[in-house]
Amino acid sequence: METLDLNRISRDLGAAVGARHCIVDPAELRTYESDGLAGVRVRPLAVVLPGTTAEVAAAVRVARRHGMPIVPRGAGTGLSGGALPVTGCLLIVLSRMNRILTVDLPNQRMRVQPGVINLDVTRAIAPHGFYYAPDPSSQSVCSIGGNIAENSGGAHCLKYGFTVNHVVAATVVLADGEIVEVGSAAVDPLGYDLIAAVVGSEGLVGIVTEAIVRILRAPELTRTFFATFPSTDEAGACVSAIVAAGIVPAAVEMMDTLAIEAIVKATGVDWPLDVGAALLMDVDGTSAEVEHTAAAAIEIAERAGAIEVRKPKDDAERLLMWKGRKGAFAAVGRISPNYYVQDGVIPRSQISRVLREIGAAGAREGLRVANVFHAGDGNLHPLVLYDARVPGEEHSAEIVASEILKICIKYGGSITGEHGVGSDKAAYMGKLFSDDDLETMNFVRCTFDPERRFNPGKVFPTPRLCGDVPGHYHAHASEVAGVAGRG
Ligand SMILES: Cc1cc2nc3c(=O)[nH]c(=O)nc-3n(C[C@H](O)[C@H](O)[C@H](O)COP(=O)(O)OP(=O)(O)OC[C@H]3O[C@@H](n4cnc5c(N)ncnc54)[C@H](O)[C@@H]3O)c2cc1C
Repeated sequence: METLDLNRISRDLGAAVGARHCIVDPAELRTYESDGLAGVRVRPLAVVLPGTTAEVAAAVRVARRHGMPIVPRGAGTGLSGGALPVTGCLLIVLSRMNRILTVDLPNQRMRVQPGVINLDVTRAIAPHGFYYAPDPSSQSVCSIGGNIAENSGGAHCLKYGFTVNHVVAATVVLADGEIVEVGSAAVDPLGYDLIAAVVGSEGLVGIVTEAIVRILRAPELTRTFFATFPSTDEAGACVSAIVAAGIVPAAVEMMDTLAIEAIVKATGVDWPLDVGAALLMDVDGTSAEVEHTAAAAIEIAERAGAIEVRKPKDDAERLLMWKGRKGAFAAVGRISPNYYVQDGVIPRSQISRVLREIGAAGAREGLRVANVFHAGDGNLHPLVLYDARVPGEEHSAEIVASEILKICIKYGGSITGEHGVGSDKAAYMGKLFSDDDLETMNFVRCTFDPERRFNPGKVFPTPRLCGDVPGHYHAHASEVAGVAGRG
C-alpha cells in the first residue's frame, strides 16, 4: 500500500477511467458529499465516473494500491447514507453506465448497466406489453445498481416480490479488481445462490456493473380503488381481512390524515380531508379474475367500515391517484418545513397498534408524525415532522425516529423494509441481531471483500465487530445528540 498522494492518485485514476471522468477538485467534489440522507456530509478524496466494467475494475485496483476505501454510488437517492462518502475514499459513480444492453422478450430477460434508471427499464419494453415490477417511489430517478444494492421495494412488490426476485444474474467487480459473474439467466441454476448474497448487500461485497433482470408481461387488466376510513384502525383491519380472504392485491398503500392533507395540497387530488385514513389498492390479472377479486375486496373494505369507496373513472384519474401516493414524501414538504423519513417493518396484523404507539412517541416530543406506507407488507414509512429553525426540534425528531425503530423491533419487525441500513442505522443492528449473527454476516462479507474496502463503516456497528479502520468513523448527528450509539 502506498501513502496517499493526491497527484499520483489523480494521475492513476485518470489513466484508469480517462482524466475527464476523474474529479479531485474540492469545489467539484462537493456535489458528491451526501446522498438522500442529506443532513450528513463527507467529502470524498476523489470521484470517478467509469464507462465500462473494465474501467470500474481498473479504478478499484488504483484505490487498492493507494489504500483507499471505496464507496459505490448510483443516483445518490438512498435514504440511509449508503452512498455517503467516508474519509479519504474513492467514490465510484455508476451513472455514466446507463445503457440497456439486450432485450430478450421471449425469455423475459433484459441485460442492463447499473446506471439505468428504474423507470427507463419499463419505458423501453412497455410498447411490447412488458414491464419491470419493482417500483420504488423514487423510480423516476434511482438506478438499477442502487436498487440491487438496497434490494429496493415499492408499492407493487406485495404481489410480485422485491428486487431480489427480479435480478437473476450480475457482473460484479470485487475488491481486488477481479470481474466475476454471479447467478444465471437460466431458471434454477446449480450451486450456491450468490446473486442473493449480492442483492441487498448495500455495496459491501462488490460493484455491480451489469445485471440481468426478469421482466414480466403487463397484466391484462388492473382495477384500482381508493377507500377512506374513520381511522387507521379500520384501514389496518381492512388490509388484514383482504389478505386473510386469500386476495393478493398488486398493491395496498395506506395514508393517514396528515399524509392525505400533504398529498392534496401538493397534487390537487380531491381526496377528503376529514377522514382518519385512506387505502389505495390495485388488483391485477386477467379480466375475469380481476373483476371478481376487486368486487370481493371492495365488499371487505365496506364491511371493515369504509366511509367511501371510489373507483377512478378513467386511466388519467387512476394515474393521478398513484401520482399522489408516489409523490407523498415530497408532498409532506407542504405541511412541514422539515421531516425525518423512517423506514421499518412490522407484522401486518399489528398496524393499528403500532401506529398508535408511534403517534404517542411523537406526542411525547410535541411532534406530529405522518404515515404513508406499504400496508400490505407491513412496511411503515413514518415521517416525523419538525421545524429545524425551532431550537431542539431536530433533536426531538431524532428521538422519535429512534423510538419508532424500537417499536418495530418490539412488535417482531425490523429496522428497515427497503431503505437499507447504510450508515444511518448501523447502530441499531446490535438491537436486532446477536453478536453471533453479526459475526456470521461479517464472514460472508469478508469472503467477498477480506480487507473491507467497500463501504467501510456501513451496515455493521463500527468498529466492534467488523475491524473497520476507526479513522473512517464519523459520528452521525443522532450520536452527537446522544440519541443513538454504535456497538
Ligand atoms: C423521495 C424518495 C422516495 C423513495 N422511495 C423508495 C421506495 O419506495 N422504495 C425503496 O426501496 N427505496 C426508496 N427510496 C430510496 C432509494 O431511492 C433507493 O434505495 C434506491 O434503490 C437507491 O438507488 P440509487 O441509484 O439512488 O443508489 P445510491 O443512493 O447511489 O446508493 C445506494 C446504495 O447502493 C450502493 N450502490 C449503488 N450502486 C451500486 C452498484 N452499481 N454496485 C454496488 N453497490 C451500489 C451504494 O454504495 C449505496 O450503499 C426513496 C428515496 C427517495 C429520495
